[in-house]
Amino acid sequence: MPELVYFEPDALEYPKGKQILEWAKHHALPVHMTTSHNRITNLPGETELEKYKIAKNTLVVGIRKTLTFDTSKPSAEYAIPIATGCMGHCHYCYLQTTLGAKPYIRVYVNIEDILQAAHKYIEERDPEVTRFEAACTSDPVGIEHITGSLKQLIEFMADQPSGRLRFVTKYHHVDTLLDARHNGHTRFRFSINADYVIRHFEPSTSSFQERITAAGKVARAGYPLGFIIAPIIWHEGWEQGYADLLSRVAETLPPEASSDLTFELIQHRFTKTAKRVIEARYPKTKLEMDEAKRKYKWGRWGQGKYVYPDEQAQALREFITEKIFLHFPLAKIEYFT
Ligand code: SF4
Repeated sequence: MPELVYFEPDALEYPKGKQILEWAKHHALPVHMTTSHNRITNLPGETELEKYKIAKNTLVVGIRKTLTFDTSKPSAEYAIPIATGCMGHCHYCYLQTTLGAKPYIRVYVNIEDILQAAHKYIEERDPEVTRFEAACTSDPVGIEHITGSLKQLIEFMADQPSGRLRFVTKYHHVDTLLDARHNGHTRFRFSINADYVIRHFEPSTSSFQERITAAGKVARAGYPLGFIIAPIIWHEGWEQGYADLLSRVAETLPPEASSDLTFELIQHRFTKTAKRVIEARYPKTKLEMDEAKRKYKWGRWGQGKYVYPDEQAQALREFITEKIFLHFPLAKIEYFT
């Protein structure tokens, strides 16, 4: 539930904008108008840290003007933009740097324009399948109770013979999506991790138990299901931590989940900029970001990332892969990066 809601003027010309305004009024949330989200500079809060926390609880309702989609390798061909920003406080989240000084949550009400743009991208590649990732810049399940956009996206993609949708979440609020007409064209993924990682680095997200229970519901609703184990973090007792994680998944998931199950594995990485921002925002974080212990991987656009040295990365990959196939012999591991 946001603490503050801002509307950009054009937003109220769209049905979804009006619907969100009604919702905000119904919940007695403070509503403000702003000429543009760029003008939101007077958020309450004494210190930078307080302002940051309030921004994370601020909703900005606007129009998506850029309808050129970014690419989203390796998980999909394109990122489909329905929202930007997230209320979670995951220390390692890359939105810390990509959203910089604007960590508030923006939702876009011109969903028809976004769907039309998606349709063009599908046609360009047809009959080859085009996959869209809806969680590149946000956690769309966490804000679905406000927008309903994800359900629209799922039902749009159900009618696209060569269009596929995927998204990932750390939230368990899936109930409104269970009766969506998905036609098997949406892969619903949950982000999971060793208990140590969830406990220390993922405040303001759903617990593991809540996520896995939601995954069971999603599987029973017939969605293709997936898990992203990310970021994989080398910590004391990591082998036990990831072994326990996969046995708990296997114990809880209903049998129908195992027939079409995918895993994506992403090791922890950070940039110098991210390290600076994370240390300022979460000064007590236990997140290990020691450049000396890492391998530098050159980036395409200049700034490189610090990943685990090859030997550690390989140990993580081999161990987790083995545990996945032990419990889910039919699962597909899409990538380790
Ligand atoms: Fe970032 Fe996902 Fe955590 Fe939200 S839930 S803060 S998008 S990692």
